[in-house]
Amino acid sequence: MSKNYYQDLGVEKGATQDEIKKAYRRLAHQHHPDKNGGDEAKFKEVNEAFQVLGDDKKRAQYDQFGSAAFENGGSPFGGSSPFGAGGFNPSGFNVNMGDMGDLGDILGGMFGFGSHNTKQRRGQDIQMDVELDFLEMVKGVTKKIRLYKHDKCTKCKGIGAEEGSKINTCQECGGQGRVQKAQRTIFGTVQSLATCAKCYGKGEVPEKSCSQCKGNGIEKIDKEIDVPIPAGISDTEGVRITGEGENPGREGKSGDLFLRIRVKQHPIFTREVNDILSTVEVPYSMLSLGGKIDVETVDGQGSLKIPSSTKPGTVFKLRGKGIPFMRSLGRGDHLITVQTKVEKNLSREQKKMIEQLRDSGL
Ligand SMILES: [Zn+2]
Ligand SMILES: [Zn+2]
Repeated sequence: MSKNYYQDLGVEKGATQDEIKKAYRRLAHQHHPDKNGGDEAKFKEVNEAFQVLGDDKKRAQYDQFGSAAFENGGSPFGGSSPFGAGGFNPSGFNVNMGDMGDLGDILGGMFGFGSHNTKQRRGQDIQMDVELDFLEMVKGVTKKIRLYKHDKCTKCKGIGAEEGSKINTCQECGGQGRVQKAQRTIFGTVQSLATCAKCYGKGEVPEKSCSQCKGNGIEKIDKEIDVPIPAGISDTEGVRITGEGENPGREGKSGDLFLRIRVKQHPIFTREVNDILSTVEVPYSMLSLGGKIDVETVDGQGSLKIPSSTKPGTVFKLRGKGIPFMRSLGRGDHLITVQTKVEKNLSREQKKMIEQLRDSGL
């Protein structure tokens, strides 16, 4: 039922605050119930109209949304109105404008498709950073993740009712499971049906709420879960664990847990896509004559064959000793750059030998 507050006060839609006040004083005086010939119903009407039109903020909302906005929950200015206390607040009824699911909900209300009763509320996602050692990244690892979050109440299994409690029709929505809401969207203001916040769309509430969760269906829990991190994951990737986010309570669906991966630097190895890069210092004699040198790989100690006449800066490839591919079989390579090992503390004899090399032209 829509009311015309302007008509009730007998003013034009564009009336100034002064004109509205004057009209109100005159009419309130005229219809005052204590007065001879007063009219209580008219007096109430005038008062209600003035409470909205006499307040610039409420008047603007009325101009946009009509009187329905002020009639939610029975009393014109009841706390259950979306304009109660804190004023118009779209996030006050579980709408996150950035979420396509909720936009779908609003569109559903706009065009008459979508069902409010079947749409399950979803809890917040939890984001966490997880640090891996380089070798954990290469091999894959199972991480223990500690969560301190809202989960389904263990006593009522999330239903919110005390065991054996009688179930009553919800007073808030009269058992409909939905209430009318005005929402501001990118398409302008939309009157739509929203899921009842008291019964979560079920239309009924337990007479006795669960004593453990006070009927919310959730409780704060502290738990540890094992999360397998796939080998080869990189810094820019994350791991999503479905259903390990916050539970919104009362038959809602849990959000997800997102783990952002940070790989610590390694003193020897660096990563390039799926290859591992490292360097090894080789004595000049071995570069010239050839030989074998121990090298560090992610699979442990290995040995690298140095052919004779190897130039410093040469890169050797250990095929398949790199980082596993996450989306296919196999691994990248380990590329080892050789550098000349320059001895710092030469003995008198070593110095002499190097002088002989120099004198021979090497
Ligand atoms: Zn409970
Ligand atoms: Zn309800």
